[in-house]
Amino acid sequence: MTEAAAQVKALRDTLARYDHRYYVLDDPEVPDAEYDRTLHALKRLEAAHPTLVTPDSPTQRVSGTPLKAFGEVTHRVPMLSLDNAFADDEVRGFDRRVRERLERDEPIVYHCEPKLDGLAVTLRYEQGELTVGATRGDGATGEDITQNLRTLPGVPLRLRGEGVPSVLEVRGEVFMTQRGFERLNAEALARGDKAFVNPRNAAAGSLRQLDPRITAQRPLEIFFYGLGWVEGGALPKQHGEVLAALRAFGLRTCPEIRLVKGVEGLLAYYAEIGAKRASLPYQIDGVVYKVDSLESQRQLGFVARAPRWAVAHKYPAEEEMTTVREIEWQVGRTGALTPVARLEPVFVGGVTVSNATLHNVDELTRKDVRVGDTVILRRAGDVIPEVVRVIPERRPAHTVPSVLPGVCPVCGSAVARVDGEAVARCTGGWLCPAQRKEAIKHFAHRRAMDIEGLGDKLVEQLVDSELIARASDLYRLTVDPLAALDRLGAKSAANLIASIDHSRATTLPRFLFALGIPNVGEATALAVAQHFAGLEAIQAASAEAIMAVPDVGPVVAASIRAFFDEPRNSQEIEALIAGGVHWPAMEVVRSAHQPLAGKTIVLTGTLPTLSRADAEALIRQAGGKVTSSVTKKTDYLLAGENAGSKLARAEELKVLVISQADLMAFLS
Ligand code: NAD
Repeated sequence: MTEAAAQVKALRDTLARYDHRYYVLDDPEVPDAEYDRTLHALKRLEAAHPTLVTPDSPTQRVSGTPLKAFGEVTHRVPMLSLDNAFADDEVRGFDRRVRERLERDEPIVYHCEPKLDGLAVTLRYEQGELTVGATRGDGATGEDITQNLRTLPGVPLRLRGEGVPSVLEVRGEVFMTQRGFERLNAEALARGDKAFVNPRNAAAGSLRQLDPRITAQRPLEIFFYGLGWVEGGALPKQHGEVLAALRAFGLRTCPEIRLVKGVEGLLAYYAEIGAKRASLPYQIDGVVYKVDSLESQRQLGFVARAPRWAVAHKYPAEEEMTTVREIEWQVGRTGALTPVARLEPVFVGGVTVSNATLHNVDELTRKDVRVGDTVILRRAGDVIPEVVRVIPERRPAHTVPSVLPGVCPVCGSAVARVDGEAVARCTGGWLCPAQRKEAIKHFAHRRAMDIEGLGDKLVEQLVDSELIARASDLYRLTVDPLAALDRLGAKSAANLIASIDHSRATTLPRFLFALGIPNVGEATALAVAQHFAGLEAIQAASAEAIMAVPDVGPVVAASIRAFFDEPRNSQEIEALIAGGVHWPAMEVVRSAHQPLAGKTIVLTGTLPTLSRADAEALIRQAGGKVTSSVTKKTDYLLAGENAGSKLARAEELKVLVISQADLMAFLS
């Protein structure tokens, strides 16, 4: 065998293994991006060595083998795959080839559709009655899953309306919404079962159950996007109008479909749906462009495994694979140890990612992530990158499980874990430089003491060079030693001293927040300050008295009490006040005016002027409750710019959506 032939064989073997895991077991080994790269490598090799192309190559046929456990259904019109385009130029090439083949100069009318990441199915209606439902299988023969498809609410058992052809085969995509998927996985994990890796595989696995009663319990949905065999009846001659006819028969189509003209129309659609991608309730991996005229489609015809009249324009992959170089433990302000995976940098979801939090030791143990592992990383929208899982097949020999260190990696103090809590903490407190650094970063934060120019890096430098050890030391700093620091210089040093000086005049809520009392965020700091109206009163208050503050429960009250009981904290407060920190006197606010009493509000997007924390504090003061997800119980969704899936969800549930201006109007 030549070297090229050996390479071709190796790639085909790998693809056959990936296909089996993906299509038969609904449990892919690798992310789609890796599958696509492998297929692309095979295509390139075959193009260079055309004699190696065989009809059964994955480049020439539709992948997927029907499971024997189901009956077989032969497709009278084959169910094909789609060609892919990744760059604008490839889309231009597609449009050019279409116009050349059709010998047309004027812009082509295209029908644009999201490419749902689910499972293709075909449904056969005879005299309007559902008779057969099947998967794509290998494109020629699919699996008979009629009984399962019957359980989907989106699959009508009988079509309605006028003009239904006597035999009508329709094709669509069965999918699971993001919410449905999360719910299903949460239930599976609670039972101790294995979670599905993504909504596509959850949909495929749910649909290909031998017991239709299981399928019936799964949150499956369907959108129809095309036709198969049709007999005894006339349908429109444009694809878009065919879909309108399907809707009239009671078959759901995707609300995002659109007709456009020419290649510029295609690219504009790609951008429009791309901007919406993260907020769509379902996952898509691209958009599909189809020549709208069915007569032109017929003229263009097919190549091996895909039509010439359509192309899938893919978005950057949201899942990629990479390797774990290191697992480090970061120590936070309250001593919490967070495992962080340092990764081989990888481009995913449109950015290069080299770190991913593993949240806590339980999560790390559950996922069993080890140094040297290849992992699947997911980054969708603006959500922080997540290690989805390890690829066990790629684990090198001699790896060891990652465990919680016994001592703090920064200060060497013991690490303690309260039973039943997910977090483990360094017990070093003030002794731990990591905790001190985080405490000072928090203190200087814009929403705390607002010390402009004192960023995270500079705090680290100041602590490392022993110019400061705690926040109160900031108020004793002078220009000269600062200016001597690396990279700082006299001007920046003077500016920093000026902004430290400026921060001396603060407010009691900000000061309380800046102290970094565990469990006390901005909103609680504000509520506590308003309730007691003075620092001495707070310091003297019993836990019971603190619990009288609206929204403060026993945990927060105990945490505040414990903070002030610690002599080092009291000394630090004295030192801060001695350093000149002061605030205007406050009046007691025991809010009787509670216009939002009993209302549940969810926030999403960026508000014009209020920070999220400020908005939450305002809502709480007004008696409202802030929750994180939109449900039927939500009264209002406060939405700002770039609102995401919560907005779609609110619209779906008919929850009233309000703006910052509306909120302010309520409060006044
Ligand atoms: P494809 O999924 O890229 O495109 C064809 C499919 O798109 C159709 O069968 C249909 O199901 C779907 N589709 C969604 N919306 C559509 C619309 N509006 N109109 C028409 N079709 C629409 O093609 P494929 O041949 O199924 O490709 C393989 C895909 O599966 C690739 O994305 C590949 O990465 C993935 N895959 C992954 C693995 C793995 O191991 N991760 C293995 C095999 C395949």
